[in-house]
Amino acid sequence: MRVDLQKGFIGCGLRGEKNKTYMTYCTYNEDDLIQLSALQHFVFCKRQCALIHIEQLWNENQFTAEGRILHDKVDTADRESRGNIRIEYGVPLRSLRLGLIGKADVVEFHRQGDTWHPFPVEYKRGKPKADNCDKVQLCAQAMCLEEMLNCAINEGALFYGTTRHRQGVIFDTALRTETEETARNVHELIRSGITPKPEYSKKCKSCSLVELCMPKVCDTKGRASKYLTGFIDQQDAESDLL
Ligand code: SF4
Repeated sequence: MRVDLQKGFIGCGLRGEKNKTYMTYCTYNEDDLIQLSALQHFVFCKRQCALIHIEQLWNENQFTAEGRILHDKVDTADRESRGNIRIEYGVPLRSLRLGLIGKADVVEFHRQGDTWHPFPVEYKRGKPKADNCDKVQLCAQAMCLEEMLNCAINEGALFYGTTRHRQGVIFDTALRTETEETARNVHELIRSGITPKPEYSKKCKSCSLVELCMPKVCDTKGRASKYLTGFIDQQDAESDLL
């Protein structure tokens, strides 16, 4: 069994899904596809999303390094079988409907009778988050798989490195709606080319871009101009003293 971006899904019987119709309509061209991970960045912080996907900034810190090592471990495997579960690693994903392209860490295929049900699993460092950023990313993966394989996927899981815990995620209407809206909003953000101003919050402590973003040097309205004006005035005053 193998998932191929070009050829679709090979060798998966989806009996029992025959009577269902899954609408797949293209709203984006290949050239317009954005990275699926941008949805996670957007829900976490719109500015972080813009810094990475508009300004192409990235900064490796402890959190991203740990996350990368976790993903590298997943990526070194290819596929395996455990009884009624087959596991594919590093599965390429694409949705022309949502305009997304990316990769799933792991897609398990659970056998029920003659049918293999896809079950995406995303590996994350740390622990479950207060917001929905990881769930939206996972749901987007499921929606890509649904479009590619013409099937329905009702659930998946997030595996967190710190807690070593696997959290089940149901792809209900509310999460699907949030995921679709997020995809549209990320496309709009990237099309606008405008990076939102920083707003310091608790999230900034774990943000990989905190040193590049410098949210604390901006004023409470998120403007860097006040800080810069003060800095320049100070420089001018010092040079007058020389
Ligand atoms: S440091 Fe804070 S405001 Fe800046 S990108 Fe990160 S989370 Fe967003």
